[in-house]
Amino acid sequence: MCQTGILFDIQRFAVHDGPGIRTTVFFKGCNNRCAWCHNPESLIVRPQIEFYPARCIGCGKCFSACPNGAHQLRNGVHVIDREACNGCGACAQTCYATALMKKGYDATVDEVMAQILADKPYYEQSGGGVTLSGGEPMLQPEFAKEILRRCKKEGLHTAVQTAGNVPFSHLSALAPYLDMIMYDIKGFAPSIYQWHIHGDRERIFENLRKLDETFDGTLAVRTPVVGSVNDTEEEIENIARMLGEMKNIRYYQLMPYHALGKAKYDALDETFEESYYTPAPERMTHLENLAAQYVTVFNYTRGYFRAEKDAGSKRQ
Ligand code: SF4
Ligand code: SF4
Repeated sequence: MCQTGILFDIQRFAVHDGPGIRTTVFFKGCNNRCAWCHNPESLIVRPQIEFYPARCIGCGKCFSACPNGAHQLRNGVHVIDREACNGCGACAQTCYATALMKKGYDATVDEVMAQILADKPYYEQSGGGVTLSGGEPMLQPEFAKEILRRCKKEGLHTAVQTAGNVPFSHLSALAPYLDMIMYDIKGFAPSIYQWHIHGDRERIFENLRKLDETFDGTLAVRTPVVGSVNDTEEEIENIARMLGEMKNIRYYQLMPYHALGKAKYDALDETFEESYYTPAPERMTHLENLAAQYVTVFNYTRGYFRAEKDAGSKRQ
């Protein structure tokens, strides 16, 4: 049983990652490359350094702290040589101005559980629990399974957010320890997978069909609606129709794209895609109404409790 994994964050009091008040555990590493990802620090498995120049006070401590000479002045501008950086984090430890932040750390199951259990009373009062997110939690299946197993032993509600681009055996191994799976279908047209997601469309669709046949918890599907990519009637209708042909999709959620990740792309020296935009609220409502012809739609302005109540809970 794997007792250690790599995370990039644990967030307490999360209210958008499933029912009630939750702790969300963010796994580092993803095998999709969705160009709109708002957590760019989640994509690569190894630790990385974010650099926020506006906070830098020019003390120079990071230059002497780095064993690899990755902090450099080029034409008078402080830059990080990303090829030279191994993510050790020594520079971030010396940066009192918090201009440098290490993203990614090894964590043991015991350490994760200690943070999760600190908020157990809030889960009990709110009907909340624990959500594994990322990144792609299913890429660290043994670590994820052990966290979920321990959570179930404590009587906690468990959920995972996954893009499903993994061998089905990863999903089926974790399923017995999950009350809820939030499964992303990020587009329908093959061209979207080719140009924007870079994941295996057929595997993602097939895995969802298999979960629909076998998973006995709450199976919810989510689509990030990205202006200029999949905010068309054809895209959403094709996805909703496919879901409507399945038997156990509890509900379908459309999530409007937002550009809040831009600062993190800059801090990692990654390219931010500028052509995407947030669909207008009226557009979201229109697409939701369209999807509702085929499948129960979870409106993001309402709560998970309401959605559960509307759909009728399967697991008590
Ligand atoms: S340690 Fe922080 S504040 Fe000092 S030069 Fe480096 S980035 Fe700037
Ligand atoms: S994380 Fe380590 S290798 Fe990378 S810049 Fe900082 S000190 Fe240098």
